[in-house]
Amino acid sequence: MSIEAGILYIVATPIGNLGDISARALAVLQQVDRIAAEDTRHSAALLRHFAITTPTFALHEHNERHKAQAVLQRLQQGESLALISDAGTPLISDPGYFLVREAHRAGIKVVPVPGPSALVTALSASGLATDRFCFEGFLPAKSGARQRALQALAQEPRTLAFYETPHRIEESLADMAAILGEGRPATLARELTKSFETIRHATLGELAAWVAADANQRRGEFVLLVEGAPKVAEGEGPDPEACRIAAILVQELPLKQAAALAAAISGEKKNALYQYLLEISE
Ligand code: SAM
Repeated sequence: MSIEAGILYIVATPIGNLGDISARALAVLQQVDRIAAEDTRHSAALLRHFAITTPTFALHEHNERHKAQAVLQRLQQGESLALISDAGTPLISDPGYFLVREAHRAGIKVVPVPGPSALVTALSASGLATDRFCFEGFLPAKSGARQRALQALAQEPRTLAFYETPHRIEESLADMAAILGEGRPATLARELTKSFETIRHATLGELAAWVAADANQRRGEFVLLVEGAPKVAEGEGPDPEACRIAAILVQELPLKQAAALAAAISGEKKNALYQYLLEISE
């Protein structure tokens, strides 16, 4: 294949196994004038492995806005550029959004070269519903903000997908079990495509206990997928918004009081909300 002048290529790279790079990604990386890399030293290993000698420059979250104009100018002058991140698909919890948005505004053609992404890789093997899902990226680092984010998702019927780091995986799983329900089915996908790849499907309570008990399960990179909240047929069960309010209040108040207050706020029946809170606390 031959590449075209003045195009910004968004190139996905492996998330672990170098065999996952596509023939088209290699051809583009070899032929463009320059490669914008999230971390040039990190990407040097990948490029060396495939004997790609194209010059690189750094484009990361701290300099993306500052550098974007110069990058767009080069494209307008007819240079072809490839954007890569440390791993996987650029822009997916990675830099590049600002550059791509500005490229569109400037009338520059943006061509994606698809390949691995931890999100889709994990979903495909998760055993959870994949027809609709809700990608939340990384949860907040601070526990209060993380718990509030999870409370806001407690009634979400789509499969939930999160990225997580080794130093927060244990806390996040414990919070998920407490807020989304110990019995909620989930899949923990660790070190995908690498030697210690582990994909475990269990309940949130079981996953939280397993990770807490084994330090090896806290090493590496993680995608966490959680089954969506059961759908309530129209006319059956309490109003989802009322449930969401009750689920937030029950973090701070006894069950009865949370149900009463949520009923007063939403107009939903107190008993229905009390039953709902009993079910999720089980
Ligand atoms: N752009 C990447 C993608 O397309 O997947 C994601 C970049 S984000 C900065 C890095 C996070 O992705 C990690 O903290 C982890 O949650 C997830 N991740 C990346 N590689 C992974 C792997 N091999 N196994 C499991 N999770 C991975």
